[in-house]
Amino acid sequence: MASLMPDKIAEATGIERSHVLTGLFTDTSVVGDDNDINVDELPLDYAILEQVDYKYPAGDNYFAYTTRGCPNHCSFCAVPILEPSFHVTNNIIDQIRTIDEKYGPKQHLLLLDNNVLNTTDLKSLVDDLCAAGFGQGAKYTDPGVYNIVMMRYKNGDRADFLDKKIAAYLEGFKKRIKSAEMLEKFLQIVIGAEDAEDYAQYMLDHEEELSPIIEKYRSKAKKARYLDFNQGVDGRKINEENMEQLARLAIHPLRIAFDDIHLKDVYCKAVRTAHRHGIKEISNYILFNYKDKPEDLYERLRVNIELNEELGIQIFSFPMKYSPISETDRTYIGANWCKKSVRAISAILQVTKGVVAAGSSFFYKAFGNNLDEFYEILVMPRELIMFRSHFEGDGTTATWQALYRKLNDEQKNRLMEIVSHNMSELRNIPWPDDLREILEFYLIKYSGKTEHTEERYVHANCGPQRPLVR
Ligand code: SF4
Repeated sequence: MASLMPDKIAEATGIERSHVLTGLFTDTSVVGDDNDINVDELPLDYAILEQVDYKYPAGDNYFAYTTRGCPNHCSFCAVPILEPSFHVTNNIIDQIRTIDEKYGPKQHLLLLDNNVLNTTDLKSLVDDLCAAGFGQGAKYTDPGVYNIVMMRYKNGDRADFLDKKIAAYLEGFKKRIKSAEMLEKFLQIVIGAEDAEDYAQYMLDHEEELSPIIEKYRSKAKKARYLDFNQGVDGRKINEENMEQLARLAIHPLRIAFDDIHLKDVYCKAVRTAHRHGIKEISNYILFNYKDKPEDLYERLRVNIELNEELGIQIFSFPMKYSPISETDRTYIGANWCKKSVRAISAILQVTKGVVAAGSSFFYKAFGNNLDEFYEILVMPRELIMFRSHFEGDGTTATWQALYRKLNDEQKNRLMEIVSHNMSELRNIPWPDDLREILEFYLIKYSGKTEHTEERYVHANCGPQRPLVR
């Protein structure tokens, strides 16, 4: 935020503009320190995630990057301001080792590179990622909370949340112990810990007795581990050579953006190239509400459905609403969009938790069988979009459709303008007589629970981690 809108920050806070620090935090002298620490390259403080009750869905990931910046200057993107020069950063093997030693290993690797394919030596980067344990088919065995916390105690870490974490783990662990003798020994130690003044020291003192029991009964199941270039790879740069390299990795999914309908051929070629190299699961960022038209969004989503069927792969689309990076709210409406149509897309996506799943039946149901149906859905009352099965079942949708289809183009445009108001305003503005009947539908409120039938739109395992910066 400081880099994107320093003037606004200075104005809002009253501090001098020159005191708002912008850019990457690579040099601590800007805050008066005298050392050579590059804050930007320090490992993250993963302990933050352990101190809150909320379970962060991507918590079992290493967060890292191998490159910074992007040489492109897409006008909607914050990266050219945040990271104006492309460069390779610190060694990924060292980054992972440092995290392992400090916090314990993570299952997956989330790389935040903005345009990794710009790197000149992709092969050695992929070699490093394979050496770090993320080659194709990579497996992971969770060392378990006990081993990780004990490692941290030995490193000198002391914190209440570590004690609570290991205590909760041991509480659940007792049911795994099959030997009565071992269970008795285990319980003696665990019960004794309750009165210990220094819990961590008590655990360290009893490690010799406890550790063999944990080792005997802890799960050593091998789990698949994945690597995710979360910000996406540049579809324009994908070719046979670099895909051959990326395919050596446990990439899941491969993320490619499809931000402009004019890049349709380039995008399709990139997907086909990825498919030829064995990639089966693709996640696709789709910018909308920018310079595009609603039909461009529909077409991009439809192209994905066609590619899925043609190639037998799964592309999950993530439509992402454009908001100018200089704005402090997200109310912007693109020149070819209106409030109601943007809200309709968000209503569809709310049902699907932001994802457009790979199946064609889902797509045609949610977005319409053709452009006419799509445009009709954009003007449909929000509740009828969100609780589709319910309102189709009781005939409300059909009644609304019959009324809507009787309107001429001028009336349809006027209706769209009126229903672009917020619902609270809609009640208070004068309603034209010829639209009165259909406008009543926009005040309907669904009062039941979310229907089970709507849940089927939600794909359970689509990895909906959005890019942090685009
Ligand atoms: S959208 Fe992607 S390619 Fe474009 S400037 Fe941003 S990071 Fe680079």
